[in-house]
Amino acid sequence: MSESFDLAVVGAGIHGVGMAQAAAAAGHSVLLLEQTAVAAGSSSRSSKLIHGGLRYLETGQFALVRESLRERALMLRLAPGLVRLQRFYIPVYAHTRRRPWQLRLGLSLYALLGSLRREARFGTVPRSEWDRLDGLDTAGLQAVFWYQDGQTDDSALTRAVLRSAEQLGAQLRCPARFDGASLDEQGVVMRYTHGERSEQCRARVLVNAAGPWAPAVAQGVLPVIAVPALECVQGAHILLGASLERGIYYLESPRDGRAVFVMPWKGHTLVGTTENRFHGDPARVAAHPAEIHYLLGVFKHYFPRARALAEQDLIASFAGLRVLPSGPGHAFHRSRETQLILDRRIRPRVLSIYGGKLTTWRAVSRRALRRIAASLPRRRALARTDQLPLHP
Ligand SMILES: Cc1cc2nc3c(=O)[nH]c(=O)nc-3n(C[C@H](O)[C@H](O)[C@H](O)COP(=O)(O)OP(=O)(O)OC[C@H]3O[C@@H](n4cnc5c(N)ncnc54)[C@H](O)[C@@H]3O)c2cc1C
Repeated sequence: MSESFDLAVVGAGIHGVGMAQAAAAAGHSVLLLEQTAVAAGSSSRSSKLIHGGLRYLETGQFALVRESLRERALMLRLAPGLVRLQRFYIPVYAHTRRRPWQLRLGLSLYALLGSLRREARFGTVPRSEWDRLDGLDTAGLQAVFWYQDGQTDDSALTRAVLRSAEQLGAQLRCPARFDGASLDEQGVVMRYTHGERSEQCRARVLVNAAGPWAPAVAQGVLPVIAVPALECVQGAHILLGASLERGIYYLESPRDGRAVFVMPWKGHTLVGTTENRFHGDPARVAAHPAEIHYLLGVFKHYFPRARALAEQDLIASFAGLRVLPSGPGHAFHRSRETQLILDRRIRPRVLSIYGGKLTTWRAVSRRALRRIAASLPRRRALARTDQLPLHP
């Protein structure tokens, strides 16, 4: 047996690098494997928001929103070059399902859950300023609410957390693919392919942070460990040539009432997202023509002056996968909380991270590390992740 680590982490998405940072900061030795490239999975295909998730209030996920808003405040402080506040606009028309009183109530609750910090302010845009909202349709417009939330570059954030983990001693192997693991009373023996070579190492705990591939990684562990009932839901975005100046528009799809964001993104406009069940190989996820059509339809509905532009202006499309607990009904109503699953309660050897949000990566990693603390040797901590600055 060549090498031995406290933690072996599979997957360099936001959760894998977050776990590597948290464990390395606590003084542990960490090996991180990534099969393709850092942030190659969902962590480069998100809506790029560091947010509480205003819409999760509708499904009563208050604890998640509160934790997300706390992390948003921390990220604004620790990573000002990577996360910045953006103004969000919510237009209300005669046909809008969420009425002004509901929005006012939701935004008040959102501000309260955000501890009424400075960034929790919200209000309405005066009618005299409506024609300065990037060409937003003003026919039948009744009110425009504004509030603030965070926007980031998800891949850049993931790379920044990885650099922080590496500075604390974590080692990345990439491309390196997890092939399987066997458990014993000392922990785990993990097999992986690094470039062309088959290698193996020992670790006290295996952290399965493989995102949409996490069920497959869990199935590679012997003796067999439990995998919860999950499903992947695909979310697509389109990138348009036009650029927005005022901020992010939080719109209601005229077709089905779903929330769709229209956002400025690196000199262009990003529109997303959809929610469709996905089956198959996560590496092959891509936006369907019907999803592109749906998102273009929302954009054109609200920005009629850009109508002629939009068709030729489609620069790119991409899709990512959310891992959600399976269940009946629409994906929107399922919990967005991260599931942390251990192979056993006492001295666990495998921790799997299923689902979750980009926003809560640090809090989730800290919580996950606590769950496996009993299996890890005592080490002298090097740093606290709530004090480590992150640089682009
Ligand atoms: C459409 C969409 C929009 C979203 N928008 C937001 C948002 O605005 N804000 C927010 O907070 N959250 C958002 N999310 C959620 C967020 O993007 C995800 O929760 C987060 O990125 C998941 O990160 P992860 O590290 O768990 O998985 P991933 O980023 O998918 O990382 C898993 C990694 O594991 C690697 N891997 C897999 N198998 C192996 C193997 N055998 N060996 C080695 N490596 C392996 C993969 O290559 C991949 O890089 C969104 C999600 C989607 C799908």
